[in-house]
Amino acid sequence: MAMMTDNLFLKIINKQIPAKIVYEDDLCLAFHDIGPKAPVHVLIIPKKEIPTHADIAEDDKLLLGHLHVVAAKLATQLGLSDGYRLVINCNERAGQTVPHLHMHLLGGRDMTWPPG
Ligand code: 5GP
Repeated sequence: MAMMTDNLFLKIINKQIPAKIVYEDDLCLAFHDIGPKAPVHVLIIPKKEIPTHADIAEDDKLLLGHLHVVAAKLATQLGLSDGYRLVINCNERAGQTVPHLHMHLLGGRDMTWPPG
């Protein structure tokens, strides 16, 4: 699927469109994916507009670390202590469809490797 032209996740951050939010703070937002690929599928996004993983800058180090800390806490809260997967798709060839950096937190089933 091609990358969207508008930033859908900015609309979720700004509460212009609804989402099932599971966590929010000054730096990030986490909400259930609308098309879950696993029993638990949450997206963790920075509030700062960063289109893709390739756009991460030196100044974003703390922010990216924060996203991982939030992901680990959410994984525990959502009952994924037996295992989970974090995925960041970067650009169209890797399957990114929304042009706002997001981390997929997936769990609740056995995972295969390598991913497709
Ligand atoms: P990507 O393919 O860019 O890595 O992931 C984008 C994800 O956003 C997909 O898993 C897709 O199901 C999810 N998504 C797309 N539109 C919406 C929406 O309006 N609300 C929510 N909660 N998730 C969405």
